[in-house]
Amino acid sequence: MEIPLSKPDITELEKKYVLEVLDSSVLSFGEKLTAFEESFRQKFHVKYAVAMNSGTSALHTIVKALNLKAGDEVITTSYSFIASSNCFVFEGVKPVFVDIDPKTLNIDTKKIEEKITENTKAILPVHVFGQPANMDEIVRIAKKYNLYIIEDACEAIGAKWKNDYAGTIGDAGVFAFYPNKQITTGEGGVLVTNHKEIYETALSLRNQGRNINSKWLEHERIGYNYRMSELQAAVGLAQMERLDEILLKREQVANHYRKLLQKYQVPVEVPTILREAVISWFVYVIILPKEIDRNQLMERLFQQGIHTRPYFPAIHLQPAYAPFAFKKGDLPITEDISNRTLAIPFHSNLSYAEQEKVIHQLAIELGDGKNG
Ligand SMILES: *Cc1c(COP(=O)(O)O)cnc(C)c1O
Repeated sequence: MEIPLSKPDITELEKKYVLEVLDSSVLSFGEKLTAFEESFRQKFHVKYAVAMNSGTSALHTIVKALNLKAGDEVITTSYSFIASSNCFVFEGVKPVFVDIDPKTLNIDTKKIEEKITENTKAILPVHVFGQPANMDEIVRIAKKYNLYIIEDACEAIGAKWKNDYAGTIGDAGVFAFYPNKQITTGEGGVLVTNHKEIYETALSLRNQGRNINSKWLEHERIGYNYRMSELQAAVGLAQMERLDEILLKREQVANHYRKLLQKYQVPVEVPTILREAVISWFVYVIILPKEIDRNQLMERLFQQGIHTRPYFPAIHLQPAYAPFAFKKGDLPITEDISNRTLAIPFHSNLSYAEQEKVIHQLAIELGDGKNG
């Protein structure tokens, strides 16, 4: 029995909508795209939503729309998928990394202010693994220093900080739909914002810099082809109609994992979920004891058909970031955590039997199999 790390949740509804698109012969900018974007405005109570071909494209578009440029600095986290930082590097904006909270694995808001300089223009919190960062503190700091907030909610669709949806609290936010995300479009992302200017600039940037009010081939800025196809939007619309169902299933899988970890007394930790936060389950991550050889553990689990992945390697130590001359020890908590976290199989249709196998095997490998 192979147990994959993740798996999209696709039903007859997604297939039906894709076939409707194929039969319509409108394969780009059709009614599915409009409905997909509308579903975000409705669900998350935001004024504007712009669908694009990836989460990375949507993040880059926000950086351009806010006119961030070389010489500017942005406060963010190194414990993330590299796109949350690359979107700045594309424009010569310097990512300034703040260490994380070892409990939540999100940016440690107590350490933000000491990294703010006169060049700081924005804060980009990543709601890592689906749990919102402390948005009360981020909003307070942003107001105090007059900074933009860009929310990377790519892993946190449907999550909440208190009563507000992740992605809708800052100036703009992004959701992403790669096949391992809670919902998928194959590839894709959505930018949400309440600012008309960001919205209109994003519409233009995703469509080759066109003047959005002119039917003419008039390009008022250098733009991109960041468009989402109608086929992708069809999959996404069906997924959005099923969002609550999918998130509930994922929550049940996560709850069951927690019970199994207790039942088998597996000597690992899991991230703490704050009282103020409603998590949207993206992946299930365990934190291994310091003495465990993670590579060996992954290899042994793999022999049993159990797929795992070391989420996340720290961005500041990636080879691509060598020009910035970060070094080991710059972010001790990020580095320690990223050496010890492991994502185990997780998706909305993971069966209890599969979960039992994963945790039982983990208990055996970590030398505590006697309880199973
Ligand atoms: C998935 C993800 C993105 C966007 O990825 P794309 O593959 O470009 O859609 C950005 N940031 C984080 C933290 C992510 O997990």
